[in-house]
Amino acid sequence: MSSNRANEAPASGRFTIVGTPIGNLGDLSPRALKALHAADMIYCEDTRVTGKLCAHFGIKTPCRAYHEHNAEALRPRIIEALEQGQSIALVSDAGMPLISDPGYKLVQAVIEQGLEPQVAPGPTAATTALVLAGLPSDRFFFAGFLPPKSGARRKALSELAQIPASLIFYEGPSRLAAMLADASEALGDRSAAVCRELTKLYEESRRGTLSQLAQHYQLQGAPKGEIVVVIAPPAPAEAPSEGDLDAMLEDAMRENSLKDAVAYVTNISGTKKKLVYERALKLKEQSR
Ligand code: SAM
Repeated sequence: MSSNRANEAPASGRFTIVGTPIGNLGDLSPRALKALHAADMIYCEDTRVTGKLCAHFGIKTPCRAYHEHNAEALRPRIIEALEQGQSIALVSDAGMPLISDPGYKLVQAVIEQGLEPQVAPGPTAATTALVLAGLPSDRFFFAGFLPPKSGARRKALSELAQIPASLIFYEGPSRLAAMLADASEALGDRSAAVCRELTKLYEESRRGTLSQLAQHYQLQGAPKGEIVVVIAPPAPAEAPSEGDLDAMLEDAMRENSLKDAVAYVTNISGTKKKLVYERALKLKEQSR
């Protein structure tokens, strides 16, 4: 068990995960700005990208790269610096660190050291696209990037087919049309939205079925910029007919008690237990 008393911690030695804009620099929050100014060191993916952000906002804090090639070696040094009272900020090139970006193992190491990370949250392309898509937002599943090759991509998509939630993917322009076509095959021709260049000058959200969108991008060619694809949840399964229900029950009752068969069929058919139980009793009577 752990508690969050981060806001009571002294100003020094803080580790802050800082969200940065996904396009529009106006989205850098005042708290994010304060955390970047106050830090002794900013760890980032690419010092050139974060250097530009810092230059724009007059942030003088030094930046150092933290990426998959040096992360393992750097983590103990970052922890040591925190213990010596230095304040560290973690950013990514854009959006929230850790969301399809480095940082999770560093946050884990900070927590394991008994320190409490703080966050100055900012935009992330995933939820920005979700709220623009016009698709159900009560439940969503963020799936990040799909595999680039079609076979592996279809397999990954079919593993997600039963999730009763909107699905969110990051995708590159050159693979978009093929990804939409594969998704249409693996998930069925669901409603979807392609959200591009969010918060930037050429922001665009295109909505339609997966096959319509696939056809559009096949004809138009790869669009420019950064892309999020949001796909609607599966349609609710149709209730099985009385005949189907009886067949399922007969099957289940051959090898199980009536009680177990009813529980099993209720579960797989999505039908009310009372109705399944009544049908099961009728079948038992008929078989006497
Ligand atoms: N950490 C980032 C976040 O919080 O969204 C995501 C980083 S991930 C390496 C980069 C991908 O995010 C892009 O390829 C694109 O799919 C998506 N993305 C980032 N910025 C975007 C934007 N402004 N519009 C649309 N998609 C964006």
